[in-house]
Amino acid sequence: MVRYPIFVGQFLYKIKSKSMKYSPFNLDIQNNNTDSRIVAALERISQAFRIMLWNQSKELSLTPIQIQTLIFLLNHTEDKRTVTYLAREFNITKATVSDTIKTLTQKELITKEFHPEDTRSYTIHLTSKGSDIAEQTSLFTKELFVPLIKLNDTEKEDFLLNLINIIHHLQKSGIINLQRMCFTCVHYRPNHPKGEHFCNLLNLKLDTNELRIDCPEHEEKPG
Ligand code: SF4
Repeated sequence: MVRYPIFVGQFLYKIKSKSMKYSPFNLDIQNNNTDSRIVAALERISQAFRIMLWNQSKELSLTPIQIQTLIFLLNHTEDKRTVTYLAREFNITKATVSDTIKTLTQKELITKEFHPEDTRSYTIHLTSKGSDIAEQTSLFTKELFVPLIKLNDTEKEDFLLNLINIIHHLQKSGIINLQRMCFTCVHYRPNHPKGEHFCNLLNLKLDTNELRIDCPEHEEKPG
């Protein structure tokens, strides 16, 4: 691997960015550019999530999406426990959700409650066995807490805000959808007289470490 002085690396980064040929995985560039090392680090963390989820899945003979569905059902209200909502939540087709629901029903981990006014749609409920498995598997991310608890409050706030900004950008770019966080909420007011972040619904100033990623009261801001 070629090691360039930092100024050469920055120059190459600018040239390659302009020509759209730049890749954060090009090690010659990556090792001279902080942004690309952050992107590469996020990719490693995403890989770790997949591995941790996969390990849980193998133990219980479930697929990763089946586990994610159980955890989602455990933590969200009835209005969100539908095929349409799950498809948007996980960025997958309704057909894939329906297959997942079918298997989880056969395994007696969920039940369907059909709507009297439209017998094609239904709300999904966890059975008590499903609930137990969802509780147990919810802890699949526990290793991530080990380094996080070592950060001080300011480091955590900065980290959280940066992650929220990245997620917000990915949503605005159309890469991911359906975010239930303050920045996409109709009740959120930035730069309010009472504070930098303010929730109109709760009538409350929010400190940075109180900004929500998944708020039960979230209402999507019109686009
Ligand atoms: S309702 Fe929830 S998501 Fe919306 S601004 Fe208030 S705290 Fe944030």
